[in-house]
Amino acid sequence: MAQTVRLGELSWPEFADRVKAGAVLLVPIGATEQHGRHMPLSVDAIIPQAICEAVAHRCGGIVAPVIPYGNRSQPRSGGGPAFPGTINLSAATCAALLRDVLAELFRHGVRRIVVVNGHYENIWPSIEAIEGLLDRLGRDGTDGLKIVRVDHWEMIKPATLARIFPDGYPGIELEHASVIETSIMLALRPDLVHLERAAHDGPARFKPYDLYPGPVREVPASGVLSLTEGSSEEKGRWLIADAVDGIERAVRDEFGL
Ligand code: ZN
Ligand code: MN
Repeated sequence: MAQTVRLGELSWPEFADRVKAGAVLLVPIGATEQHGRHMPLSVDAIIPQAICEAVAHRCGGIVAPVIPYGNRSQPRSGGGPAFPGTINLSAATCAALLRDVLAELFRHGVRRIVVVNGHYENIWPSIEAIEGLLDRLGRDGTDGLKIVRVDHWEMIKPATLARIFPDGYPGIELEHASVIETSIMLALRPDLVHLERAAHDGPARFKPYDLYPGPVREVPASGVLSLTEGSSEEKGRWLIADAVDGIERAVRDEFGL
C-alpha cells in the first residue's frame, strides 16, 4: 500500500518515526496571486506542492503543508497588487513565516530539508528565511542540518526550453500565467484551466525600471504577462518531469540517498 507523503496526514508517532529514519522534508512555498482570466489564484501553490509530492514518493520524503501566501506580487513579474484576489505578504513576514516553519522542523529533529518555491517574488524572502535560521542557530549549531532551496523553473532543461520556445525564451518573470504555468496546470489540474477565457492581450513590454505606487500601465488587463497560446498538457508533462527529475537528483546528491 502506498504511504501518504503529506505531513498533515501523518500522526505524530508516524512523523517522528519517519524523521528518525532520515526522511527528507520538502517544504513547498507558493502565493495567492492572479494568474489571468483562465487560471485560478493558487497556481503558484498547486505547482510546487505537486512537484514536492512526486519527489517525495520517489525518495521516501515527507511534504509539509504548502505555504499558500507569498511575497508581494510585482507588476513586472506577477501583475502586481491591483488584481482582485491577490493576497500579498510583506517580504519580512514571508521570510519570518518560512523561517519559523524551518525552525520548527529543526526542533523536531529534521536535518534534511528541501524548500521548493513556486513564486518568483519569493526568491529573496526564502533565502532570507534560511539565512535567518542559520543566524538563529549559530553557524556552529546546525547539527548536520542541510537545506536545498530551489525555484522549480530552474530545473527546466535547456533542451526542453528550446522545444517549447523555438523562437526564444522570454524569461521566467514574463512567463507569468503564460506557456510554462498554463501547460503545467493543464497537466496537473485541467479542471482549473479555461483556455477559452484567455484574453491574448500580451506580451507585456515593460520599461526597464519599477514605478511606485503605480499603476504600471504596461501590465496587460488580463494579468497574463506573456502569451498563453502554445500551452499544452504535453508540454506541461515535460516541464513537470524536468522539475521532479532535477529535484530528485539534487536530493540524492546532497543527502546521499
Ligand atoms: Zn505563477
Ligand atoms: Mn507568482
